[in-house]
Amino acid sequence: MQVGVLALQGAFERHIKTFQKIGVNALPVKSPDDLEQVDRLVIPGGESTAISMLLNLNSLRAPLQKRISEKMPVFGTCAGMIVLSKTVLDGREDQIPLNAIDITVRRNAFGRQIDSFESELEVKGLNEPFPAVFIRAPIVESVGNSVEVYARVNGQIVLCGNDSTLVTSFHPELSDDNRIHEIFLSIESKDR
Ligand code: GLN
Repeated sequence: MQVGVLALQGAFERHIKTFQKIGVNALPVKSPDDLEQVDRLVIPGGESTAISMLLNLNSLRAPLQKRISEKMPVFGTCAGMIVLSKTVLDGREDQIPLNAIDITVRRNAFGRQIDSFESELEVKGLNEPFPAVFIRAPIVESVGNSVEVYARVNGQIVLCGNDSTLVTSFHPELSDDNRIHEIFLSIESKDR
């Protein structure tokens, strides 16, 4: 298995380190050639408008969209969740999401009250709570039938997935806890 981490902008290095801790080598993905090398991909936190624009500038949008339509496993954290969503609220007009998962997300939704916070998250399938770090985090306002919800904060969905996609409002790579990354690695690859 070759894991990739989209490395155009944002918090990609900590993801690569988390995979190293698990014993998995992760390739930084900056070009269509890099994308060809990987069979699953993380889209990190950062700034979703910038990541969206940089996908275009680096000729990655079309090949990535194709891989997603072929069901390559993808994992989006915070800004990455926004990039992988179907519909973005409070986004920029030219910010086109990749529609890997049937969710509507609102950007900076917690940030109106508070910029960042930590929460001991009860996650479906995990025995112990996950220490989740939220930074100007989006929330998932609605999900389609294909989506399974794994965790909420104050009733708001912050972790969910479908058969090839996992998305979190928070930054699991910033916690000293590999379990969410391990869930991503356990998604069965069907595209290759
Ligand atoms: N607010 C950022 C955005 O809209 C996401 C923040 C983050 O990834 N920590 O893209």
